[in-house]
Amino acid sequence: MALGILGGGLTGLSLARCYGGDCEVLEKDSVCGGLCRTVEKNGYTYDCGGHIIFSKDKEILDLMAALLGDNKVRYRRNNRIWFKERFVKYPFENDLAALPKEDTYDCLYQFLTRDYPEPKNFNEWCYHRFGKGIAERYLIPYSEKIWNIQAEKMGLEWVGGRIPDPPLEDVLKSALGIETEGYTHQLHFYYPRRGGIEALVHAIGADVKNIETNFHVRKVKRRNGAWIVSDGKRERRYDRIVSTIPIPDLIDALDDVPGGVREAVQGLRYNSLICVMIASRSEKPSDKFAVYFPQRELKFHRVCFYDYFGESCVPPKRSSAVAEITVNKGDGTFEMSDGELVEHVIRGLEKEGFIRRSDVCETDVIRRRYAYVVNDLNYSRSLKVIHDFARENGIVLCGRFSEWKYLNMDTCIRSAMDVAQKLKGEK
Ligand SMILES: Cc1cc2nc3c(=O)[nH]c(=O)nc-3n(C[C@H](O)[C@H](O)[C@H](O)COP(=O)(O)OP(=O)(O)OC[C@H]3O[C@@H](n4cnc5c(N)ncnc54)[C@H](O)[C@@H]3O)c2cc1C
Repeated sequence: MALGILGGGLTGLSLARCYGGDCEVLEKDSVCGGLCRTVEKNGYTYDCGGHIIFSKDKEILDLMAALLGDNKVRYRRNNRIWFKERFVKYPFENDLAALPKEDTYDCLYQFLTRDYPEPKNFNEWCYHRFGKGIAERYLIPYSEKIWNIQAEKMGLEWVGGRIPDPPLEDVLKSALGIETEGYTHQLHFYYPRRGGIEALVHAIGADVKNIETNFHVRKVKRRNGAWIVSDGKRERRYDRIVSTIPIPDLIDALDDVPGGVREAVQGLRYNSLICVMIASRSEKPSDKFAVYFPQRELKFHRVCFYDYFGESCVPPKRSSAVAEITVNKGDGTFEMSDGELVEHVIRGLEKEGFIRRSDVCETDVIRRRYAYVVNDLNYSRSLKVIHDFARENGIVLCGRFSEWKYLNMDTCIRSAMDVAQKLKGEK
């Protein structure tokens, strides 16, 4: 076969769809989708980390919308940050008037008078860009929760376009209580009417003919000018391969990897994710999909309310809150049992006034090993060594944990389309 695609997440399936014909997808799980998998259990539908469909890339946004056809609803963002027992619109700097007066004053004053040298790490960047008030109240504590690393240990490669960058006028207006919106390419978004975010993956993969699930790629080698890919029992032969699986898995599967490359892979930092679902009896659905929690004493950084999407995601008169907790092996939270995690989330949400323990009627916990690429200070150096090695050996890397970049669904699809075009041109 001409092309072997390692991994059947959104990137692998998008690549197969665009390449067409003579290719095969190898996926280790029994169902494709990777990070875009959806849990459907006892009448509750929720994703492994809140996913919404948006993009600055109009062609890709139109493609995702067209693939979903009628199975989509367009929403206007109504996310909030929970700060000192009140809701503040997301992004924080676009709703300073919602803070207690002293906080509004301090955030605005520090924003207007900030004077910090060119930043060298993310911590310095927060002060430099937003001033002490916003940096210390929200941006740094929230970021340190989601990234599970101190802000001064993070680099800056990922910041552009990722963190809202409001003009001075917006911050002034927001402090005076004049409506402004930040991060406008996310202001409206789509979500599938049925089937959660996984519905998008199935729509993308609908025309892909050759998908081998339960195929865990364990060995990848060159033999007589071809690529041989094996799961230990079965072998496949391809002219070319594209890897969309996490870099550490790919490197483990290869023989004769130079020590410097293995060292670079060991230096790559990533975060895992635990999602804790708490269902409650409720009379009315949430008017917010996501709420962000910068409070350091709460382990979860974000909670998504799936009753926002109506009865396709929850049974009648029920709500579901899915709390996201970023973890790393050895940090103590990673090691907590499901029961301990559920207890922490119930206690936290009850204390903050979001749920009542007596209303809880269902719970669930799911864990994802690879969730976030972390841009620490070694990021660019390590990645260059690995990407050079892959290029020199004719392995194309594509996707979130293969390129090892903070890619969203839209940029994964774009990357897959670009790779497919290039490979077709080389046929
Ligand atoms: C919490 C969270 C929220 C997000 N929210 C959004 C959002 O709102 N909007 C948005 O656009 N994007 C969002 N994203 C990003 C989105 O999930 C990713 O960009 C996308 O799913 C990445 O797809 P992928 O195929 O590159 O990687 P993955 O989804 O990781 O797919 C890799 C696939 O390879 C398989 N695999 C791994 N190892 C092997 C092996 N050895 N052999 C065979 N198969 C293997 C895996 O099982 C998986 O199916 C979010 C991500 C997270 C973590």
